[in-house]
Amino acid sequence: MALDSRRRPEPADFGFDPNPLREKYRRERAKRIRADGNDQYREVTGDFVRYLDDPYVEPGYTREPLSDDIEVAIIGGGFGGLLAGARLREAGVDDLRIIESGGDFGGTWYWNRYPGAQCDIESYVYLPLLEEMNYVPKEKYSHGPEILAHSQAIARRYDLYTNACFQTLVTGLHWDPDAARWIVSTNRGDRIKARFVCMSNGPLSLAKLPGIPGVESFEGHSFHTSRWDYAYTGGDTNGNLTGLRGKRVGIIGTGATAVQCVPHVGEMAEHLFVFQRTPSSIDERGNRPTDPEWVKTLEPGWQQRRMDNFNILVTGGFQEEDLVNDGWTDIIQKLSSMVDRSGEGDTPEQIEAKLELADFQKMEQIRDRVDSFVDDPVTAEALKPYFRQFCKRPCFHDQYLSTFGRPNVTLVDTQGRGVERVSEGGIVVDGQEYEVDCLIYATGFEVGTDYTRRAGYEIIGREGLALSSKWADGMSTFHGFLSRGFPNCFFMGGTQTGLTPNFTHMLNEQSQHIAYIIERGRKSGATTIETSEEAEAEWVRTINESANRRQDFLLECTPGYYNNEGKPGEGRGWFGGVYADGADAFFQLLRDWRAKGDLQGLELR
Ligand code: NDP
Repeated sequence: MALDSRRRPEPADFGFDPNPLREKYRRERAKRIRADGNDQYREVTGDFVRYLDDPYVEPGYTREPLSDDIEVAIIGGGFGGLLAGARLREAGVDDLRIIESGGDFGGTWYWNRYPGAQCDIESYVYLPLLEEMNYVPKEKYSHGPEILAHSQAIARRYDLYTNACFQTLVTGLHWDPDAARWIVSTNRGDRIKARFVCMSNGPLSLAKLPGIPGVESFEGHSFHTSRWDYAYTGGDTNGNLTGLRGKRVGIIGTGATAVQCVPHVGEMAEHLFVFQRTPSSIDERGNRPTDPEWVKTLEPGWQQRRMDNFNILVTGGFQEEDLVNDGWTDIIQKLSSMVDRSGEGDTPEQIEAKLELADFQKMEQIRDRVDSFVDDPVTAEALKPYFRQFCKRPCFHDQYLSTFGRPNVTLVDTQGRGVERVSEGGIVVDGQEYEVDCLIYATGFEVGTDYTRRAGYEIIGREGLALSSKWADGMSTFHGFLSRGFPNCFFMGGTQTGLTPNFTHMLNEQSQHIAYIIERGRKSGATTIETSEEAEAEWVRTINESANRRQDFLLECTPGYYNNEGKPGEGRGWFGGVYADGADAFFQLLRDWRAKGDLQGLELR
């Protein structure tokens, strides 16, 4: 209904009653909450390591081990590593090497080539270095192949293929105090000496499987979405999965990955069973080709302005204009629009009440959207998410919901419990076996587990200090980049940082900061750069206070990786270690720190 703009909206304006809705959210959450948290998942080990094989390289690659001495080793060839490489090149570092487990650059977009893979963040703000590369993406939301090609173009433009080591897994990092070098060991027998190490291992790189009985016993074909098996399914990332004709397929999981691949599988499989534990929130996608006339209007600096505009809006800030104007900015603006931020009107409790109301309103719209695509009332009800918008990652898709209207597609709603077990021939839920020829795990990636476990190697710093011991009770860094005892070792990604849905923006800011510190260190002639104990302790305090501010919201949320599977207080999940004033404030804090120029909090020796 139209609202009178001169007065604040009241619950009655929206046509729903918050009390029963709040109760419904609690009931739905209670169905999903479980004591084992992250331990409910199993690592991809044993027989399942085949799920991690690289389908994009020829087997049998070998090379001589390396033992050279370089300036900077960058671990990870995704956007983080590429941006670090680009910024270091700009800072005049010639002697660097990117070490990457895949057969090429691309990171997430190298591995995740499942049908329909596409980025949910607008391409003009997501694909980094567009102006430097003189490139404008083809669509508002890029598909995987374009993003992968852009990654590789960045590597060419910044000469990052030189000295790169592909198909190489780091197995350990060890600080040699006498040489003041990191020794990087790999599965290729390398012992590379590096003065600086920059780690960009990726936030969602270690696939996980449900720890349910019988996973080993399945006799049909199976794989994880992060290594889509086109040899079996036929087709490619555009779909056309002709190999699935006549096949019964089961997909476990309904997160952002499943939302994109389910329509393609549903189109070709004889029958598709989608096993759901928690429905995702599915908003409109509305993709469109890039308008060449709009491209002509772009003026220098346009991408940074657009990235900043998006970032400020999605972190609840104010901008005269919404340049991206999509589902992300719409959600946050709806949430913010009712709140008086002047500091005069609302008490914190009133602000929270209004935010909750706006959230209900947005989620009612998402639930109504399900009804407009799905006729069967039981299926439609099962597809409706009953949780607050940012308890789980919002999804955007225009074909996912309607796929459940197909006669060959069945939603198997497990009512929050998850699949019971896997049998030799299929999947069992509530004692009923669903026979399938092919089982696809769209069950995501480890997030809340130990950093070194996800990295896949231990980091041994000064005096034999292991990072896993130092961080046993949670991360400890200065600004997210450096941890005392581990000189010259920089972390990128979600380590006590300012988080934004536009990950590449965060990586871009981080890469500039790291390049600045390394450049200053090199110019000063220092051998080591390390954070002071006080500066690190102060940052950890800041982060912990931030975490406390979000705790109430996260505790009420349905479990997922955003709230460390229902245990937000345990510190290892992303949102346990996030700068609560938001990414924009964090980036400004970094800029101010650099502008001061005194490297406060760092010890250069
Ligand atoms: P997610 O972790 O988001 O989803 C995993 C899914 O598996 C969930 O639906 C989960 O249910 C389900 N699941 C886990 N265990 C069981 C079980 N025992 N029984 C039934 N279901 C189970 O992984 P995704 O790969 O989908 O996405 C990971 C992240 O990658 C996204 O959140 C996003 O950040 C990013 N991404 C971005 C994309 C984009 O930009 N378009 C596309 C794809 C991914 P439950 O919710 O109940 O835990």
